[in-house]
Amino acid sequence: MTPPPNDLPVSRREFLEKSSTLAVGAMLGATAADAADKTPSDMKYRRFGATGLKVSEIGLGCASGLKSQVLGPFLFDRYREQLPAIVDRLFERGGNFVATSQSYHDTEEILGKALKGRRKDAIIFTATSKSQPKDVIAACELSLKHFQTDYIDCYFSHGDWRDGFHEAAQTLKKQGKIRFSGMSCHVPAKHRPHVEAKELDFIFQPYNYMALAKWTEKIDLNGIEELFALCKKQDIGVICMKPMTGHFIPNWAKEASEPKVAKLMDELKQFGAHNLYQAFLLWVLKNPNVCCAAVGMTTPHEAVEDCAAIGRKFTRVHERLLDLYAAAATKDYCRMCETCQPSCPAGIAIADILRFRMYYKNYGHRADARELYAALPESKQASACTECGLCQQACPNKLAIVSKLKEAHGLLA
Ligand code: SF4
Ligand code: SF4
Repeated sequence: MTPPPNDLPVSRREFLEKSSTLAVGAMLGATAADAADKTPSDMKYRRFGATGLKVSEIGLGCASGLKSQVLGPFLFDRYREQLPAIVDRLFERGGNFVATSQSYHDTEEILGKALKGRRKDAIIFTATSKSQPKDVIAACELSLKHFQTDYIDCYFSHGDWRDGFHEAAQTLKKQGKIRFSGMSCHVPAKHRPHVEAKELDFIFQPYNYMALAKWTEKIDLNGIEELFALCKKQDIGVICMKPMTGHFIPNWAKEASEPKVAKLMDELKQFGAHNLYQAFLLWVLKNPNVCCAAVGMTTPHEAVEDCAAIGRKFTRVHERLLDLYAAAATKDYCRMCETCQPSCPAGIAIADILRFRMYYKNYGHRADARELYAALPESKQASACTECGLCQQACPNKLAIVSKLKEAHGLLA
């Protein structure tokens, strides 16, 4: 069912237009006016581990291509229509990579068309979640067709390590169909053994300001910094996903009656919302062990706005905006660290359910979120939770997991 227009998620740009930017934004060096389409960028490039590739500091991540049919003519089709222009704006400003997955609807085909005539300038990342070698090889052949190319630069196992994927990747490398292989995963500990064993060329890991120790009760809870340092030592490329947390502000901002959210919104009216988004990127790129960030851009303006961040200084005002954001969001934002998971006697898929809740509430990917939730065995769904509260004691971020699971079940079942 198509949601009513006033219940629709809005793009970052629409949000920006709604939160009027005053001249004081110029203090940060980038105003809303700066983000006009003609704004140049000073794109920078980093070495991508031992691959020999030089990746632009930001590129396009396509998780918005989750097949959210429910967004229909309002957002999802608009996103797909705008993807070629997003690629144009990004590449005009020196961006040189796109990252998607076969799970993200028809984004491979759209990107393949958008990259026509500039294949040699583009680094293509795409993924499959297949696990049998023959299925991985078939999936790769399909990706090659979609991208209208003879080779994928960086092919990866989507969402986890799979032995079958990596067996197939060796064959695909020998055949020249892929150049490099890697994995994406939310949990650093799952990357770690494969980084230690140098079994891959690159990793995708969520990383953003909310990963900082001060927002958790344990120092470097997620082990992300150590993982990145190990990647550096092993000369393995690090590409960050969810640089802006995935805890999508525009939709969340509808709850501005909450005092901390209202305070953030007031500051954004003063400084301009684009400075918050740029602050997220600048914070990620401050880390010398990070090679680049895959950024979810849903309009051409967002591509311009994000590229305008490159080369800017991370200021105290940026830090203040991030602090306000984090203070408001920290008790709602699941880092997907899975620390709570072993404490649950019922085996509820807590981190997955909270992720699906985020897809629904913050991304607006309702159909996907429901579909993913329905695919969980009933025994792992939120309805099987006994409300014992043990997970809440284990969560380093002190999330009110029980009520969030209840809410998720109401939204997703
Ligand atoms: S409250 Fe529910 S989800 Fe949390 S540990 Fe208990 S049964 Fe598991
Ligand atoms: S609920 Fe807490 S412990 Fe569980 S995955 Fe999320 S942040 Fe980690």
